[in-house]
Amino acid sequence: MTSGRPVDDPFALASADGLRPPPCEEPFYLPSGDEVAVFAACHAHGLPVMLKGPTGCGKTRFVEHMSWRLRRPLVTVACHDDLSASDLIGRYLVRGSETVWQDGPLTRAVRAGALCYLDEVVEARPDTIVVIHPLTDDRRVLPIDKTGELLPAAPGFQLVISYNPGYQHLLKDLKPSTRQRFVALEFTVPPPEREVAIVVHEGGVSGRQAADLVALAGRLRALRDRGLPEVPSTRLLVSAARLIASGVAPREACRVAIAAPLTDDPDLLAAAHDVIGLLL
Ligand code: ADP
Repeated sequence: MTSGRPVDDPFALASADGLRPPPCEEPFYLPSGDEVAVFAACHAHGLPVMLKGPTGCGKTRFVEHMSWRLRRPLVTVACHDDLSASDLIGRYLVRGSETVWQDGPLTRAVRAGALCYLDEVVEARPDTIVVIHPLTDDRRVLPIDKTGELLPAAPGFQLVISYNPGYQHLLKDLKPSTRQRFVALEFTVPPPEREVAIVVHEGGVSGRQAADLVALAGRLRALRDRGLPEVPSTRLLVSAARLIASGVAPREACRVAIAAPLTDDPDLLAAAHDVIGLLL
């Protein structure tokens, strides 16, 4: 397939390599503002979107939810510093006596009119990131140098990147020439009542237990002032809740699922354990 023809039935893509068809059931996503409507408007106009925010605050779940809502397949790429342009676009492979071209995940998304989610894009090398530029402006094309193809993005294609400003430093930041191509949606830790609702739904605990976990997270998040480099995300609360729901004692669940993943520092761990002992 070499054209930018859209795939008529996105559910037909179930077996396509690297493409996940839109989920049949709505993935639970509790919005914190008008991000669903803004994303849908960006999609309608072919505007690429940057999801900014710390880890574990719902960015990936949001993209899965939008894949369902917009009925578009989803391609997800976890970016890392070894990721090359060929890893995204594709490469020639030797199969027996033949040399065959194999599309990379970005190319598959462009051909199929999928959402392409580049997770933690800042981890990729700058020379890899620039390959997305022609897809982010009015051209909406992907030049494939190795095949000489200039691939127009199929209708429905949308580029989505995630970016954690907390990890930002001088050597690893998005260039302004890249940043300014995206509409940016901010994700943060949800307000307590919403976080409780998420933990109840995702963790399978009672409202009371979820409220205790969220109160604990509030106290632990305050430890940032005492040097805790990363504060507990909603993801960690959901993990603790799942352990509790399956019978692990609440204090133990919080130690192993919340405190231990956050730090190795003995003083900070002791402080976190004190807070856990006080609240649970
Ligand atoms: P991120 O991509 O920002 O690192 P995820 O989307 O993977 O984080 O979120 C981690 C987990 O937290 C999800 O699997 C889900 O259980 C829960 N979660 C966080 N925020 C939300 C939200 N707004 N709605 C529903 N679930 C959420």
